[in-house]
Amino acid sequence: MPQRPKLVLAGQLSVFPWVFDAAERAGIDLILIPRGDDSVESAGRANAVVELLPLDIDGNPDGALSALADRYRREPFDGIMSGNERVIPFVARAARELGLTGLTEEAAAVVRDKRSMRQRLLEAGLGVPGFVVIKDPDSWTDALALRFPVVVKPANGHSSFGVIRADDRDSLEQAVARTWELVDTHLGAAYGSDSDIGVLVEEYLDGPEISAESLVYHGRVRVCAVSWKGQLTGPYFEETTLRAPAQLPAEILAAIEAEVIGAHRAFGVTDGTTHTELRLVGGVRPVLLEMTARLGGGGNMHHLAHVSSGIDLAAEALRIHLGQEPLCWRAEPVPAGHAAAYLVPIGSGGRVKRIRGLEAVRTDPQVDYVVQTAGPGAVLRPYPDWSGNPAVVLSHHASDAEAEAYLAHLARTLHVEYEEQE
Ligand code: ADP
Ligand code: CA
Ligand code: CA
Ligand code: CA
Ligand code: CA
Repeated sequence: MPQRPKLVLAGQLSVFPWVFDAAERAGIDLILIPRGDDSVESAGRANAVVELLPLDIDGNPDGALSALADRYRREPFDGIMSGNERVIPFVARAARELGLTGLTEEAAAVVRDKRSMRQRLLEAGLGVPGFVVIKDPDSWTDALALRFPVVVKPANGHSSFGVIRADDRDSLEQAVARTWELVDTHLGAAYGSDSDIGVLVEEYLDGPEISAESLVYHGRVRVCAVSWKGQLTGPYFEETTLRAPAQLPAEILAAIEAEVIGAHRAFGVTDGTTHTELRLVGGVRPVLLEMTARLGGGGNMHHLAHVSSGIDLAAEALRIHLGQEPLCWRAEPVPAGHAAAYLVPIGSGGRVKRIRGLEAVRTDPQVDYVVQTAGPGAVLRPYPDWSGNPAVVLSHHASDAEAEAYLAHLARTLHVEYEEQE
């Protein structure tokens, strides 16, 4: 019997089950490098995880790499994959040193920085909003060259943390100051060096938002699923709903595909899986917001792709990182229906008492996954000073209308209850 392939999964939060479940389905064993803030006890619990390898990737990447290389020499593994945004450059470096499939270090650096993504898209002749890089808080006036409204954001953020819409000169000045302060306080450690710190101001792309989940193998891109996020107008951009497949005419879907494929070329992303966010300007013209070279939403985008396209996205991603051709390159998958994701909004913030309505959801036959990431006692700050959601509900439905109605139902019934303020 051939040996089961073994893959190192770096920094995947264990409360998110999708990649672990996919590995089990695909017969792949995982060596998990737990995320620094994860509980080691829960990290080992997934059936697919056969080994835990605690490494301080954020704090000591060189030490982590040499420990990983030692582990490889003891008994080689067959691949390595990123389980969160911050480990992407480390995983690219490790893949190159160990001769495994992955991104080049250059591509990994490009997709970690919104300034480089914008620059590459511009050079490739793809759609880009007007943008200005702010190098220090006092240079906010550089952005007055742009057309209002604009969006201020960290060059290297995630989950809409510190992303603020500004409609005029006064609110631009305030937004740059606020975003800069948030970047300074919370994102400092995420940067390779001080010179990486920065804030970007972009012209506002007016139109509904979508996301595209893709696989890329030896440079060939397959857009597996397009999801509908709807209208997010700001001033802060907390995501709450997604549904797939997005109900769009074939010519718009083709334009989205062309833009997404072009972006992979422009960024040099040749192998793995990606989550690309776009806006449909005027409802028709796709323009990239950004791309990330991993499964989106901690893996929850796998569910939307799996249901809506039939492609086992997370399992295919693991295969690519094992150097294998994805199965959907040869066998056409069969879509299974419509999928929805509801990300419970933080609302006012505070100390969590409970999430009202969540228990009823758990027993609903349309619901496939309920993942709660903020339990009683957790302290959540309201946007723009936070990133993430206290809970996510993933479901499947017979039609887009049913998915939409279910999301509206969840929006009415699920609420975070906070402790009374003293
Ligand atoms: P992050 O890495 O924090 O997710 P994004 O660039 O994706 O950063 O911005 C977060 C959200 O802010 C987007 O999903 C979108 O809703 C909104 N946004 C960002 N840039 C723009 C823009 N230029 N025009 C309109 N909305 C934007
Ligand atoms: Ca286990
Ligand atoms: Ca991002
Ligand atoms: Ca984003
Ligand atoms: Ca997002």
